[in-house]
Amino acid sequence: SAMREERIKKTKTVCTYCGVGCSFDVWTKGRKILKVQPQPESPANGISTCVKGKFGWDYVNSPERITKPLVRKGGRFIEVEWDEALKTVSDKLKDIKKQHGSDAIGVISSSKATNEESYLMQKLARQVIGTNNVDNCSRYCQSPATVGLFRTVGYGGDAGSFSDIASAGLVITIGSNTAESHPVLASKIKRAQKLHGQRLIVADLRKHEMAERADLFIHPKAGSDLVWLQAVTKYIIDQGWADEGFIKKRVNGFDDYVKSLDKFTLDYAEKVTGLSEDILKKIAEEIHRAHSVVICWAMGVTQQKGGSDTSTAISNLLLATGNYGRAGAGAYPLRGHNNVQGCSDFGSMPNKLPGYQDVSDDAARKRFEKAWDCVIPAEAGLNNHEMVEAIHDGHLKALFLQGEDMGIVDSNINHVQSAYEKLDFFVVQDIFLTKTAQFADVVFPASPSLEKEGTFTNTERRFQRLYQVLEPLGDSKPDWQIIQLLAQYLGADWSYQHPSEIMAEAANLTPMFSGVRYDRLEGYNSLQWPVEKDGKDYPLLYEESFPFDDGKARFFIVDWTEPTGTSGEYDLHVNNGRLLEHFHEGNLTYKSEGIKRKTPHAFIEVSPELAKKRGIKDGSTVRLVSPYGACKGRVVVTDRVHGNELYIPMNDNGETAINQLTSSEVDKDTDTPAYKDTAVRMEVLEVE
Ligand code: SF4
Repeated sequence: SAMREERIKKTKTVCTYCGVGCSFDVWTKGRKILKVQPQPESPANGISTCVKGKFGWDYVNSPERITKPLVRKGGRFIEVEWDEALKTVSDKLKDIKKQHGSDAIGVISSSKATNEESYLMQKLARQVIGTNNVDNCSRYCQSPATVGLFRTVGYGGDAGSFSDIASAGLVITIGSNTAESHPVLASKIKRAQKLHGQRLIVADLRKHEMAERADLFIHPKAGSDLVWLQAVTKYIIDQGWADEGFIKKRVNGFDDYVKSLDKFTLDYAEKVTGLSEDILKKIAEEIHRAHSVVICWAMGVTQQKGGSDTSTAISNLLLATGNYGRAGAGAYPLRGHNNVQGCSDFGSMPNKLPGYQDVSDDAARKRFEKAWDCVIPAEAGLNNHEMVEAIHDGHLKALFLQGEDMGIVDSNINHVQSAYEKLDFFVVQDIFLTKTAQFADVVFPASPSLEKEGTFTNTERRFQRLYQVLEPLGDSKPDWQIIQLLAQYLGADWSYQHPSEIMAEAANLTPMFSGVRYDRLEGYNSLQWPVEKDGKDYPLLYEESFPFDDGKARFFIVDWTEPTGTSGEYDLHVNNGRLLEHFHEGNLTYKSEGIKRKTPHAFIEVSPELAKKRGIKDGSTVRLVSPYGACKGRVVVTDRVHGNELYIPMNDNGETAINQLTSSEVDKDTDTPAYKDTAVRMEVLEVE
């Protein structure tokens, strides 16, 4: 078999990094990855990939992989066999459940893991443990976008496909560093600009690459997007440019909505956002002139105290101008992780069963209870944010965390890490001994995407299959197998032989996925939900109706929530986001030698004005202090940032880790941390 292992082979997989969902063939010899080769039939990306998809795979063979279960004994991790680790965890969880009840246990799923694994995690929580305390990392990013869409159009996903973004007359991006965060999508927009004169408006604090390429780059004050969106919509309606035919036929609540816009005059918006009336009118005119409008948004919108409301305002604007249900139009929240869409879709949410069926919906809950022979609580469980607070106040005793370096990526990490120390029992399942895993009592070694089968769902709601490229390293196992083993040790009778059986069960219980079958996803075939029993899928949503009882969308009234902003000694605003080369805290990408050499650590962007005022330059070292913590880093002076605004790539888990600074403030509707609303003071440590 050594001979066979050394044969060169080619296997189709799906990128493990961002929500674009590039698929490609991976050529391997033994465990050596020879090359990544995208195919013309790759539905999301064709023959393109970015640097991460192409070169970001060294981590799979990293000597830092954990390959044996670890159990903490006398303050140290000891490698043990699976049986001992599983017995330790199941005994302890049973004990905690007996003493404190099911709701003393929380479960967090990974948006890097597959749909099938998200399904099993929430099934473990609901059926085996008996709690709705299950959530995933969209709580840190996209939950507000999903809420904004639920309120107005009914589905928590992108309105169409990348082809719709490419064929739009006008694309507006808000709070999205598209060229670095969703590189292959950004290339499609760049091509559309060149090929058919697509117009581009970019709203951001930072003059990044797409801002440079925009026909109009606007720089509203931090946290004020809702105000310019509402003012532009009001101006459009006042000019008689609203799509009255569409509204009359397809949307409820227009009159009350129009009234709610009264205060959002151009004059008011100019005061709040700093954008001139001329600019606001120009935006309205661009929207009016375009044959179709797509709005893409990301964390700059959602990670604010009013993130859900701003997402709602975006959707309202599209409804008012008839930009739903046709090619080249609609709302496109750009999902971050490869499977952050699917992780929520498959029920790792405290208030939703798979397919966004409410746990409070008796009929839906009963269907699952019957299939699983259990009782599911009718009340929502705790979300990630509430779990941290519940640990602090003593209600949550145990946490089972899958593939999420939450102690680095959650906001206010000093507060989060001190919660871990209070847990009675903490189990982490990951491929590396992350910062978070170091707090655990037991660590289960998982296998990354290349070592397993399953499906991911990209930002276009597109299901794609990944095939196993490599054998699991050492004693590591695919997450679905570990979750199943744990369920069995806890007394459940699960017996899935392959992820396709998990999907079959999920599809059977979830109308939205009823036609999702592995044989329909062979090779490069894909399906975009909702998928009907006969396999009909929906690349474009809302062509005929919106998924509400009367088939109509709804205007949803929202108001502005003022950001906390800067004040007193905390006089500088810190923004954060991605770098092209790295992903999030960098647990994967820092293990690629080439990428690491090129971009060895995060830095702090400072505007030329501020640098001059503080007497610092490129390469100076500064310390940033917020009321919640401090971080240290090297200065890069650049006009990408402006005035008293700083920018730190979020890709650092050491001394420049941004979440040492962020607060525990959250979006009021979803508890998503207001990462983008952070104020600090700056101390100069070394000019150079
Ligand atoms: Fe494609 Fe995103 Fe992966 Fe880059 S990181 S290859 S854009 S899926």
